[in-house]
Amino acid sequence: MTGTDASYDVIIAGGGFAGMALGTALVKFMPTGFHVAIVDNMDPGQLSSATSDGRASALSAASRHLLETLDVWPLVQDEAQPINDIDITDSNLKAAVRPTILHYDNTLGDDGLPASWMVENFRLRQAMLDTAASHDALEFIAPESVTGMNGDDHGVTARLASGEELRGRLLIAADGRRSRLREQAGIKTVGWSYPQIGIVTTVAHEKPHNAAAIQHFLPSGPFAILPLKGNRASLVWTEDEKTGRAIMDLEDDAFLRELELRFGRRLGALELAGPRMAYPMEMHLARSYIANRLALIGDAAHGVHPIAGQGLNLALRDVAALTEVIIDTARLGLDIGAGEPLERYERWRRFDSTVSTLVFDGFNRLFSNDSMALRSLRDLGLGIVDRSPYLKRLFVKEASGLSGDVPRLLRGEAF
Ligand SMILES: Cc1cc2nc3c(=O)[nH]c(=O)nc-3n(C[C@H](O)[C@H](O)[C@H](O)COP(=O)(O)OP(=O)(O)OC[C@H]3O[C@@H](n4cnc5c(N)ncnc54)[C@H](O)[C@@H]3O)c2cc1C
Repeated sequence: MTGTDASYDVIIAGGGFAGMALGTALVKFMPTGFHVAIVDNMDPGQLSSATSDGRASALSAASRHLLETLDVWPLVQDEAQPINDIDITDSNLKAAVRPTILHYDNTLGDDGLPASWMVENFRLRQAMLDTAASHDALEFIAPESVTGMNGDDHGVTARLASGEELRGRLLIAADGRRSRLREQAGIKTVGWSYPQIGIVTTVAHEKPHNAAAIQHFLPSGPFAILPLKGNRASLVWTEDEKTGRAIMDLEDDAFLRELELRFGRRLGALELAGPRMAYPMEMHLARSYIANRLALIGDAAHGVHPIAGQGLNLALRDVAALTEVIIDTARLGLDIGAGEPLERYERWRRFDSTVSTLVFDGFNRLFSNDSMALRSLRDLGLGIVDRSPYLKRLFVKEASGLSGDVPRLLRGEAF
């Protein structure tokens, strides 16, 4: 335990995707005797129920590598839908035809592997819970909240709502957008809310989607049609807040009519095939990703607009980088909660996630807009990209998560 007095090596506050992936990676690749606790304030049954999270996530090829390495991917692969093509349009809703202004092949290189896959969140969560349960060195404590922390030279104490305390060498804040630990550590954020809400639901459609995702940019925000297994699609429908709330209050029939207006007829008749949920649209960046014996990962560190479907992918990049830092440090016999490894993690992740967050913010501003000048500019830009196979390949590589300083787990390498 390298001079510390901990009963756990790592304590993770938050058993969402980021917390579960980090905990699983650490116990899988660290030698026997390395112990991790994950504390989550939700009941595990609720965490993995389709009614509590009706979303699906676009997972990049890099995220898929990580999930394969952690043995999670085989549990979801039969239900994972590859995205082979992406069509982008910004036609008026009343237009008789909706021409695609940018189309690209979303596969990588000559082997034609998809750059992204759609997986329903409840399936991924259940797969993560099952994988975590197969590791004796990983203790899952739920429902229970981490209410506070205290770091010192020898370790860190996490206080729980039950009054109990856990002692570890390093505490991870994986407790989401409104991270209590981030606040407790005095880490400020920069960010803002968009005057938009994200309506999420699943539809069944008559005709096959042929593994194509459609991003329809409307003045109120993007309307994304993301293919799922079977003739189904997950929708992320961004609306201005007032209209969005009014649409959410409609009865199913009227809601479906509003939805059809935006979805169009290209996939034939539609039916609602999942719950509808509304999410606030916000972005934030933590000013620091670390504090004394504390590291922030996932939405606790950065929250992005879902316009590019990258929040979870960024979270898994944090997981991969932090796993590598912790393993390298432990193998040298050094303290995993000390300042130096935490600074290495922060240097690795902060720049990349800041750039991504700002780029997605810029996309949202550029596309959730009906100004003639901006519209002409963006159509010109998309037209140029559409005629450039080189630029298209660059975008696909970027979205696959396989460019830049890629941590080992995202390359599918074990330790
Ligand atoms: C509409 C929408 C669509 C999206 N689509 C995509 C997509 O297609 N692709 C993509 O990559 N990303 C997408 N995202 C983003 C993605 O869902 C998030 O970035 C991701 O879920 C973040 O995971 P996390 O584990 O960091 O946080 P969370 O999922 O928020 O998990 C935090 C966990 O911490 C627990 N918790 C909170 N406080 C405490 C506490 N004090 N003690 C103990 N536990 C606590 C919570 O119960 C929760 O389980 C989307 C987001 C939205 C809103």
